[in-house]
Amino acid sequence: MASDSIVIVGAGIIGLDVALVLSERGYGKYITVMAEHLPGDTSVAYTSPWAGCNFSAISGTDANALKWDRHGYTHLCKLASERPEETFVQRTPSTELWDENVPHDKIKGMAEYLEDFRVLPTDDLPEGVKFAVSFTTLTVNAPSHIDYLYRRLRDQYGVRFVRKTLPNIQSAFASSSTKVVFNCIGNAAKTLHGVEDPKCYPTRGQVLLVRAPHVQTNIMRHGKDYETYVIPRPESNGNVVLGGYMQKGVGDGSTYSYETQSILDRTKELSSEVRQKEPEVLAVFAGLRPSREGGVRIERDEIAVAGQKRTIVHNYGAGGTGFQAGYGMALDAVRSIEDVLRDLRNNEPRAHL
Ligand SMILES: Cc1cc2nc3c(=O)[nH]c(=O)nc-3n(C[C@H](O)[C@H](O)[C@H](O)COP(=O)(O)OP(=O)(O)OC[C@H]3O[C@@H](n4cnc5c(N)ncnc54)[C@H](O)[C@@H]3O)c2cc1C
Repeated sequence: MASDSIVIVGAGIIGLDVALVLSERGYGKYITVMAEHLPGDTSVAYTSPWAGCNFSAISGTDANALKWDRHGYTHLCKLASERPEETFVQRTPSTELWDENVPHDKIKGMAEYLEDFRVLPTDDLPEGVKFAVSFTTLTVNAPSHIDYLYRRLRDQYGVRFVRKTLPNIQSAFASSSTKVVFNCIGNAAKTLHGVEDPKCYPTRGQVLLVRAPHVQTNIMRHGKDYETYVIPRPESNGNVVLGGYMQKGVGDGSTYSYETQSILDRTKELSSEVRQKEPEVLAVFAGLRPSREGGVRIERDEIAVAGQKRTIVHNYGAGGTGFQAGYGMALDAVRSIEDVLRDLRNNEPRAHL
């Protein structure tokens, strides 16, 4: 087995979670991650560092989304319990409010596993809010968490990282020893030759990074045509992310002062903690969620490379939920190649006694 027996294209949370699932099963030293951007980089073409980031009921209502949420919650709880100062994942009290379109069935399912889950009495809700719940969420310092995964995968599991911009997906099979490629390229799935998925589109979100150590509670309000949230950022010396926007089909990485003002106004109205003291705005970002009509694509396929059929697993389209769903998505993506993993194990050189 070679260090590029398994190639993962993409070093966002989706590619890193695939590398983690495989590494936890002993395949770390057979993985090469190839990516244009690596943890520590910033670019509008690299979504993961811009995530808020928390676990919330914002994800889809289909069976897969419910399953991935559950896996994600368990996984993030484990990271928060083990060593939050190293993983940058933390348990945080959370409230979520809906103005309309409350996903009751989904919330009922989530109530089975969310810690400290409670439906809030309707009498106490702000005007215009139909339904609200509180529970313990996981908040994630997104740029630091992907950096933690990068270091852990490289240093603990022997995963190789190569900075490389691929001109097409076929070029991930550059070596004859590569048995499988995981395609985890986020928004690039729309344009990269050999993938060119017309169902993919970006969903823009502008957020503010503010300094507000007194803000300790995660709160979100899901409106008909707006999304407002306050997410304390773990291990960041009191920084908080204020948001936001969900602009379907908008691929603009610029930030706008009128959106900054709207975010400040809405988060002050939503959170009594934010109202307590004017937050100091440290930075303003815009990120593009890699969305897809019909949802995530996790699919094993075969593609022709230099006249030969090679195995590829597509894993992209996580939209606004890559951090909460990524680990569960990775379990499914890896499950689809059990036969390839079995062959790799069988071909492993045996130690001579
Ligand atoms: C404002 C905002 C708030 C968010 N909040 C949350 C939240 O609270 N909770 C949550 O779970 N999610 C949240 N998200 C969503 C989350 O950030 C995304 O779902 C996730 O980052 C997608 O990860 P990815 O790995 O698919 O894509 P990316 O992070 O974009 O990674 C793509 C990778 O593919 C590589 N690549 C692309 N093309 C090529 C090529 N040709 N050759 C080589 N490499 C290539 C890139 O360099 C990169 O390494 C938020 C997103 C935004 C923008």
